[in-house]
Amino acid sequence: MFDVYKIRKDFPILSREVNGKPLVYFDNAATSQTPQAVIDTIVDYYSNYNANIHRGVHYLSQEATDVYEEARKKIRKHFNAARLHEIIFTSGTTHSINLVATGFSSILKKGDEIIVSALEHHSNIVPWQMLCERTGAILKVIPMNEEGALEMDAYDALLSEKTKLVFTNHVSNALGTVNPIKQIIDKAHAVGAAVLIDGAQSCPHIKPDVQELDVDFYVASAHKMCGPTGVGMLYGKEEWLNKLPPYQGGGEMIAEVTFEKTTYADLPHKFEAGTPNICGGIAFGAAIDYMNAIGFDTIAAYEDELLKYGTEKLLEIEGLKIYGTTENKTSVISFNIEGIHPYDIGTIVDKLGIAVRTGHHCAQPIMDYYKIPGTVRASFSFYNTKEEIDALVEAVRKAKMMLS
Ligand SMILES: *Cc1c(COP(=O)(O)O)cnc(C)c1O
Repeated sequence: MFDVYKIRKDFPILSREVNGKPLVYFDNAATSQTPQAVIDTIVDYYSNYNANIHRGVHYLSQEATDVYEEARKKIRKHFNAARLHEIIFTSGTTHSINLVATGFSSILKKGDEIIVSALEHHSNIVPWQMLCERTGAILKVIPMNEEGALEMDAYDALLSEKTKLVFTNHVSNALGTVNPIKQIIDKAHAVGAAVLIDGAQSCPHIKPDVQELDVDFYVASAHKMCGPTGVGMLYGKEEWLNKLPPYQGGGEMIAEVTFEKTTYADLPHKFEAGTPNICGGIAFGAAIDYMNAIGFDTIAAYEDELLKYGTEKLLEIEGLKIYGTTENKTSVISFNIEGIHPYDIGTIVDKLGIAVRTGHHCAQPIMDYYKIPGTVRASFSFYNTKEEIDALVEAVRKAKMMLS
């Protein structure tokens, strides 16, 4: 049985107050909170075995290396990658996407086409626009509809033998839409294109199986799934990772260096130049352990309950409109109240101790589609409660009264 009150005790921050009120943290789509088990892992690392990895013969270095590589194994298992060296540690989703986009500079030619979805975070748009500038490739966009879903017929029409790469998120951070990625991947493969899936927003809710998906690249950030900031992962199929050139040059990524010629290390080290976020990688592994101990089915079922409850309660407020109304979505509610700026609502609910996000959520094209400056976004995690949602609804009602 899932006991949210017991779970909440794992998160020290949830018992603090903000502006004299108990904190209600509904900005989980921006970053998740950290359980004690992950905090303990970080403290243990710096208290007991902080050392640089992979190079030292001394005891601490070997211990740190072993635990860091153990974390890579946990990540491999979690995403069900076929090979351990298909998991690359990065500083997060943004870094992972830039690594792949930069690598494709040497693969794409002028006139090649790459396809993005209308539902993307800026970090899955801008690196590809930069790639197009470098190569002369052309960026095409799968349009969205009023519900916040992708127009799959339009996707079919965009695909051709010119298509080299398709990239979309698994879940939209601005709306919560779960995209039909298996369909997207299979259709791209049918024309010989590779696919990158941005899993930053899915991984807190869904356990992806990269082999079952047959995806070429899958990327995520630890800090959205109970881990620390500044660390994340890139999964890439071995054949693709071998094809891509190194992203950064430096220590750790070389086999041999002379001033005449440098040869690169094997995977995964070819893409891991410099001293990595060792503690962060280890803590990422601890976060995955923590979430798996609760279970992703349990997490998804409970969060869906919160989503349904929150949607129903918020819609009782007159003039409130929710953006992102597809059947298949994660626990994100993006909304506005007619005639009121989202920032003003966010400011008032913050005074009442409630953390929501306001603005374009790094997804301006979605806001442009709806012709709005932004939304108020409440994103729920498995440690949130219905009572907290009640507090939000009351706060939004209060804000509406004060502002209209
Ligand atoms: C948060 C997020 C990103 C960016 O992640 P970083 O950790 O900031 O690199 C990219 N895509 C989506 C869908 C996100 O939610």
